[in-house]
This record gives sequence, structure tokens and C-alpha cells, in this order.
Amino acid sequence: MKTFIRMSLMREKEAINEHLSEFTGVILDAHILETFQNASSGYISNNKLRYILDPNTYRLAIDPIIDCTDKRWYDRIIQNFKIQDLINDQGLLDTTLLRDHKRLERFVIDILRYQEDRISNLSGDIESWLFLLEESNEDENQKPYCVIPPYFIIDSEELLDLNIEAINLSLDKSELPIYANIPIYYDNLFNENVINHIIKRYIETDADGFLLWVTDYNEVKERSISLQCYQSLFKEMKELAGSQREVINLFGGFFSTILASKNIYDGLAHGIGISESRNPYGLGGPAPTLYYVPILHRMLTSERADDLILTVKSRCSCPVCSSKMPSELKTMELVRHILNVKMIEQREIEPLSMDEIIAKLDQDYEMIYRSAGDTRTQRTFMAYSQQLKEWVNSLKVL
Ligand SMILES: [Zn+2]
Repeated sequence: MKTFIRMSLMREKEAINEHLSEFTGVILDAHILETFQNASSGYISNNKLRYILDPNTYRLAIDPIIDCTDKRWYDRIIQNFKIQDLINDQGLLDTTLLRDHKRLERFVIDILRYQEDRISNLSGDIESWLFLLEESNEDENQKPYCVIPPYFIIDSEELLDLNIEAINLSLDKSELPIYANIPIYYDNLFNENVINHIIKRYIETDADGFLLWVTDYNEVKERSISLQCYQSLFKEMKELAGSQREVINLFGGFFSTILASKNIYDGLAHGIGISESRNPYGLGGPAPTLYYVPILHRMLTSERADDLILTVKSRCSCPVCSSKMPSELKTMELVRHILNVKMIEQREIEPLSMDEIIAKLDQDYEMIYRSAGDTRTQRTFMAYSQQLKEWVNSLKVL
């Protein structure tokens, strides 16, 4: 399976460095690149990382952006996407203007060029200095893993049409593989007809690969009936895409890692802490200080994590946690711990069969339940570990 790390803050670089050889590349959102221009472009160039630069065009067309217009990335994005004439009085990208074929075509080209050249251009100043010191090769300019045509959240047939049209227009406009970002609106996940229709439209395009995103999907909170819809979506998509076209899940946690390890799809992007799901209508904000509990495969507050670890006697085996309890870890240690555990999880489940994985999840659930001495503790621990049961019930019917 391919593994991508989603970068959201530049302070994560050190933690990512410890695992460079274990993942395929990084995913960087355009607004993150524009917020930390030099740090992020320099990091990718200097380490020669494979990367996907997600243009996140949907972000410019939905309401919460209004509260973001004072952020430093907003003006840089408008300027570098060359979309001044698509922005309305409220500062939003007016998608109705893209009904004009010529205008859409130009928009598509600008968005593809941005992804192809932006990292190289931003690190160009540094490179031109290096050029004086040693021979530099033009071909070494780092190109992304793939390019993504502009896209918007599919909450209407009109926006689905627009996304498909943008893919079709991009096909002969880049030397790089064209990967379609498919943002599935959460409610649509449960409507089989709508899902089949959306999948069919994308499969019929000549896109080279697909990046799937079920909006605001938090696999830790979902019931097994919902998880079954989720796993079916990916299974269906991969079966129709065939072996030549990759299907990558853009947001997911441990449940999604299990699906990827059993080749339900080709790759998964891990967030670090907060980005295991994404609500496009949310405003975001600083990550709360949480500890990823390995046996639960989910985040808890550090105090609750301390409590659970002491009771269940299941400590994390990663170097960060060897001599400290969760509540003693500093922010960067929490980040390093998360990545350590993600990589350990992946290594551990890859050789296991699905039956073995299911048995292990069942075993952990029972162990947590038995460890809780009294009924009250049991109730609390069950609230933390319910997702293990939901995952088991869903995976059993895969
Ligand atoms: Zn740890």
C-alpha cells in the first residue's frame, strides 16, 4: 500500500523526518504552502520528497472562507491561481462564471500550472544561489506525483458536471498523471443510487487516478452500518477503476489503514493528529492536545489516556513513550508518538489476514472490558472502545 503524510504545520517536519523512508510522499494543501511558503517549499525541495499539491479549489467557493479572507494565504492564492475575475463581492469564487467554457478552460490550465511549478518557483531563489556553487540540472525541478483538476464539493448535479468537465479539459494539458479529487458529500454516502451515479461519472472520464474524500467522515464515531457504506464505496470504486488506475483515500485512520492493507484501494493519506477527517464547512483551528491511544486506535485527552493505560496496562512501545505517561508529553512528543504508532500499526497489520485482524480487534475490546473493575469504569471504557466493535461488525461483511 502507498502511504502519504498530510502536512498541516511546519513544526511537524522533524517528526516526519524520522520516517522519510517509510512513506510514499507528502500531501500539501495549497493554502498551507502559501502560509508557510519558504519553509514548506524548501522542505520538499531539499529532501526531494514526492508530493501532491492539492489546490483545494472547493475552499474558495464556500462560506467559511469569508472568515478566512484576512489570512495571509488568501491573497496569495487568488493571485497565484489568477482568479481575480472569478471572485464576487463577498470574496467567494463564483462557480456559475465557470459555465463559460473558455473561462473554465483557462481556470483549469492555471490550476494545473500552479501545481506543476509552484514548489520549484518558490525554492527557485535558493536554487539560483546553489547554481553559483555547483552545476544545477533543470530536470531536477521537482514535479508533483500527479496534478489535480479544480474541484468543488459535490452537493448538486451542477457541481458534479463542473468537476467532470474540469477533468475532461485537463486531460491534454499536462505531462503529469491527472488524478481526480472526488469530494463525496457525507449525506450522499448513504444513498446508493447517488453514490453509483457519482462513481460512474468519474470512472467514465480518462483520469489516471482517483483521490477519494468522504467529507466530515470520522470512522471512530460511525456505526457499522455506516462503515459498511464507506467500505463499499471504496471497494466499488477500485473494482471499476481496475488495476491501472489508482484509488487513494485522502482522509482516514486505522479502519482505513486496514482497508488499504487488504488492497481495497491503493493508498491512504495519514493526517497528523487532527486531519484524519475533514469537514469542508468547518473553520478549523488549533489542534487540541490529545494522545493517540494505540490499543483504541483513537485520540483521547492525555488525562483519560493515562487513566486507561494504568488500568488496562497497555503502554505504547514507541521510543517517545518509553519513560513517560501521555500527560507528561510535550506537543512535539505527541506528534512524534502519533507518527511512530501509525507506522508500527501499518507494519503490524500488513502480514495479517482479515480474520486475524478481526480477532485482534475483538481480543483488545474484551481485554479493555475485563480490565475495568467496576460497572462505572466499564461504562466509561466502553464509550472509548465502542469503535472496535463497530469496525469488527463492518469488516466481517467486507
Ligand atoms: Zn508512543
